[in-house]
Amino acid sequence: MIRTIGRAIADRLPSLRTESLLPELAAIGCFLILPWIGIVAALHHEYYAARAAAVRSTGNLAQALEESTRRTIGQIDYILLSARAFRTAKSDRFDFHDWARNQTFADKMTAQISMTDPAGLVIASTIQLVPGVNIADRAHFQAQLDPTHDDLYISRPVTGRVSGLQTIQFSRKLLDRDGAFAGVVVFSLGSFELARFYESLGLGDGFVSILSSDGTILAHGPWIPGLTGTNIRDQSGFDDMLNHSIGSIALGGTPRRAAQIASFRRLQDYPLVVMVGFDTNTVFGSYRALRANALLSGAAITLVVGLIGLLWLRQKCRSLLSRRALNVTLDTISQGILMVDARGGISVINPPVLDLLALPNELPEAALKYVVARATELIPAAGGDPAVCGMSGPGSGSARDGRLETALENGTIIDVCTHVLPEGGFVQTYTDVTEQRMAHAQVEHLAHHDGLTGLANRVELRQRISEIVGADRSEGTFDALIMIDLDGFKGVNDTLGHDAGDQVLIEVSRRIKSLVRATDVAARFGGDEFAILATGLRQCEDVVPLVERILRRLGDPVQMKSQQVRVGASLGIAFHPQDGQDIDTLFKHADIALYSAKAAGRGTYRCFDQQLTLAMTERRALESDLRRALDGDALEVYFQPKFSSKSLQIVGFEALARWRHPTRGWICPGVFIRIAEDCGLINRLGQKILERACQGVATWEPRLPVAVNVSVMQLHDDGLKDHIAAVLEQTGLQPEHLEIEVTESVLADDSQTVLGNLQAIKAMGIPITLDDFGTGYSSLSYLRRFPFDKIKIDKSFVQGQTEDPGVRVILEAILGMCHNLGLHTVGEGVETEGQREMLRAGGCSELQGYLLGRPMPGNHVQDFIRAGGYLPDIAGAPAEERQAAQAMSL
Ligand code: C2E
Ligand code: CA
Ligand code: CA
Repeated sequence: MIRTIGRAIADRLPSLRTESLLPELAAIGCFLILPWIGIVAALHHEYYAARAAAVRSTGNLAQALEESTRRTIGQIDYILLSARAFRTAKSDRFDFHDWARNQTFADKMTAQISMTDPAGLVIASTIQLVPGVNIADRAHFQAQLDPTHDDLYISRPVTGRVSGLQTIQFSRKLLDRDGAFAGVVVFSLGSFELARFYESLGLGDGFVSILSSDGTILAHGPWIPGLTGTNIRDQSGFDDMLNHSIGSIALGGTPRRAAQIASFRRLQDYPLVVMVGFDTNTVFGSYRALRANALLSGAAITLVVGLIGLLWLRQKCRSLLSRRALNVTLDTISQGILMVDARGGISVINPPVLDLLALPNELPEAALKYVVARATELIPAAGGDPAVCGMSGPGSGSARDGRLETALENGTIIDVCTHVLPEGGFVQTYTDVTEQRMAHAQVEHLAHHDGLTGLANRVELRQRISEIVGADRSEGTFDALIMIDLDGFKGVNDTLGHDAGDQVLIEVSRRIKSLVRATDVAARFGGDEFAILATGLRQCEDVVPLVERILRRLGDPVQMKSQQVRVGASLGIAFHPQDGQDIDTLFKHADIALYSAKAAGRGTYRCFDQQLTLAMTERRALESDLRRALDGDALEVYFQPKFSSKSLQIVGFEALARWRHPTRGWICPGVFIRIAEDCGLINRLGQKILERACQGVATWEPRLPVAVNVSVMQLHDDGLKDHIAAVLEQTGLQPEHLEIEVTESVLADDSQTVLGNLQAIKAMGIPITLDDFGTGYSSLSYLRRFPFDKIKIDKSFVQGQTEDPGVRVILEAILGMCHNLGLHTVGEGVETEGQREMLRAGGCSELQGYLLGRPMPGNHVQDFIRAGGYLPDIAGAPAEERQAAQAMSL
């Protein structure tokens, strides 16, 4: 239902249909029509006013003319009756001319007065009589023949037979004394003259007419030839004239005469009508001018209104189109938009509002109120202040613009943005920000956690440490920052690939997590570096069980798909607050402790103390000094001879690196080789020693083989074999002039590169010796992994056998085994004759040791060889070597 309501509200918004423009069209229509109504009304009024004025004027004139006409006809009748009276009285003695002379005819209109005999013959006339003129056929004669009437007869205009002019004949019958008909006396009134008389009234283009009662024009002024005698019976309004004695009539125009407005008056005593008319051109002249102006103005108004209307419509269309676009937008955007007006009515709403407000499917009738109420709840600050959604004027109410986020029951998070309108009401938008928030949370998580293992990362750990550092330490507890570095992890990565490496890291982190408390923080910094922040320790020693458990647990093999992988760990611990009051110091000191643990042979832990800092500082200094030494020429190579155990002939030398520090003197190779390995200088160092050693051999006579020690890290370098080949070529040595010594650790690292390098070197014809044999855990198993040419028995066995019979047994077993395997053996660290004898007796092939020859500088070697090599006195060793031996044994 709510959906329907929402839809209905949305539909209420206008779309571009003709109906949408109806109010505007109606308004424009009104604006177009109204001026015309005014114009028509004004013109109408003007027309009738003009007409009324004309009717009034003509009416007045008609009245005056009626009067004058009546008097004139009365006079004419009087004259005629006078003639008759005289005729009757005097009978045959009546002298017409005598009588006529006594009559006064005031105007020229009188054409003539004549008299006939009973037969109609004109017998007398005031003008010259034409003999024989008879008017017996004329109407004005005929009319008088009727003995029952004795009236004045007024004829139609006729052409006088005596006067020859157009005249109106007034006739009276003449009677004898006995009353018999004696002819007629006729008064002829000249039409033309009459017309002139009327013209003299100054009616302009108006007219005056005398009509007979049947509509015949008897006289008309101004004179219009041919008009008199015509009839106006056919004119509309003529019937009015018949029925009324006074009135007005509109006369249509003719080719000869414009249309007229005329007033008429019927004469009381005579069957005549006086008519006075005005030309409509004159009557309506000003009206017509006004009408022309009004029409022009009306057209102008229509044009202007039309244009304005068009603009308005265009504007309206645009607004409708933009509203329609808004509608489409509102319908299609995922954001919900709601506008509530000051009275609490919804003026805009789109469908997502309903979803986003999670309104129930079934809503009562007051659904819209419910929507408004729900929206009002979401207004910040106001909290449903009625001032917002209702009845508030500008500035009232406590509601403010703002946004808030709300979580719905279904878990959706909505961002509600409210804008309170100044005139009251508000606009609210609803945006589903669930995904954004989740993504944000995920980003937040990623920003604080390691992607691979899910442990905290450095950022998170630092944050947690900063909380501890800033916390109140009144409880007197301690916190431990434990840095963990995996031993041998690089080998896993190199040999088994990164996926396996990742698995190991995941397993390691799982183990670490299982060992720490929930309040502790386990973190990974990337690579194989981990850390633990153990908090709230009562005393520093409390951390020991934890680190031991970690060492044990991380030392356990990790089961991969087809094999087990073993990685160990070194741990460095710094305590808060005593080892550092701030994050960086704590980290630095934990790092130093870790370094110390690694330097101590790995697989162990160290707690920070100030001594370590000193050692660390010293080490750093040595590191940069070594770098400088390598850049310059401070590294030297000493050569220690090896002898045949049977003949005691020199069979070769071992090249040993020597570094005489400018201030510290001789530095033990065990120390600087480790530093070189740790800080990545070992390849350069190894290359230098190899070059020097080979250069040395090239100068000897005879050329005896030299054994060069190669660190496991050098064997990770793909370019090693090429470099060896290049050096051999440069120095002109044969492969058999060189031997490579590697320790067991080389094979503990299962890397393919290492093994490949070893095989390549062996394939070049260079013998490979396994150094320090017996010191590792699984020395024997290494013998199966690579076909070594020689085994160098570690000096601890050589020297230990004199005191320890057990060691002697092992030594004998090793020698026996090597003999059986056909391997050459070298006894190292032979210092006594007893040791030499024992080795010789046990079948050891070669001997090396102070007893037979100490390491010596390269420039002593040739003399040594020349002397046959056997210098039984230890004091015979070069002074520098003795000095070096003392320094290094410290
Ligand atoms: P190493 O390869 O086992 O070398 C033999 C060590 O035993 C040398 O110590 C040598 O001076 C010492 N030595 C020889 N005869 C006797 C003896 O009769 N008694 C006693 N006590 N010691 C004897 P050095 O020169 O101090 O070298 C220590 C280690 O440093 C070497 O052990 C080797 O692992 C490493 N090293 C030395 N030079 C190089 C080098 O150029 N490259 C590499 N990678 N390592 C080197
Ligand atoms: Ca060696
Ligand atoms: Ca050795």
